Amino acid sequence: MTNPTQGTALITGASSGIGAVYADRLARRGHDLILVARDVARLEALAAALREQTGRTIDVLPADLADTTELARVQDRLTSDPAITMLVNNAGVSLNGSLLENGPDALQRLIAVNITAPTLLAHAAGVAFVERGAGTIVNIASVLAMAPELLDGVYSGSKAYLLNLSIDLAGRVGATGVRVQAVLPGATRTEIWQRSGKDADTLMPGKVMAVDDLVDAALLGLDHGETVTIPSLHDEALWTAYDAARLALAPNLSHRDVARRYRAATGRSTLAA
Ligand code: NAP
Repeated sequence: MTNPTQGTALITGASSGIGAVYADRLARRGHDLILVARDVARLEALAAALREQTGRTIDVLPADLADTTELARVQDRLTSDPAITMLVNNAGVSLNGSLLENGPDALQRLIAVNITAPTLLAHAAGVAFVERGAGTIVNIASVLAMAPELLDGVYSGSKAYLLNLSIDLAGRVGATGVRVQAVLPGATRTEIWQRSGKDADTLMPGKVMAVDDLVDAALLGLDHGETVTIPSLHDEALWTAYDAARLALAPNLSHRDVARRYRAATGRSTLAA
């Protein structure tokens, strides 16, 4: 054993990439683990290695999160297992191409894995954690939440959804002892690129982060109490200014009266020109 127990962390998408590194780091930090993904052989191999290296209890819970019955098994585990203190909503898929280059099946699968599953899992964990007055939910979003022009609107929109959900939930549960963190990775060297027919190093030469660095930084952000962690953003002031601009916009967004530029006689809108 490396550390006293921190309770159990349930990690989705733990069979590779960012999720597998979270599994490694959280086991070493003293968490028992529940590893969720579809590839049972990879999950079992990781579980065996981490049991051997850390002495932690590591369970494997195979599930296709796009399948509502299999997703419900994971929701049930979060609801019924009082040892669970942490959810890492990490599983995610990207598209090969944009909206019009994909069929309904690929689009529905992305929405199911990137939006429906993390929402229902955050709900199950959130209700249980608030009841116990403790717990941590980590949602793996993306920097594309703020930059739809860099890839495609479907994937980036799913990540913007997770960012919104995280900011709102963090505000609502902050006083209960429950923590919520959105992690926004930039391009990170994992299989997600090949799985969606892309090569990160060609698309983003010199800008691809190693997955170990990404997870270590994200955990440091969690330790620092951040709600939003962007490991690849060097100039923190850029985020502060962006967030301040968003917050400044908020009180101006609803009015009884139509804005002047949309009144018939005043001419053309300059918005989104
Ligand atoms: P990855 O190596 O492809 O890992 C994706 C994980 O999700 C795998 O463990 C995969 O496991 C699991 N998964 C996919 N579909 C699933 C399904 N239907 N049911 C259950 N599990 C499923 O990619 P990654 O980069 O580590 O991705 C992790 C997260 O980081 C994703 O949410 C991704 O959007 C986000 N992200 C990545 C980058 C990047 O550049 N890599 C940047 C920003 C955000 P199985 O195939 O075994 O099911």
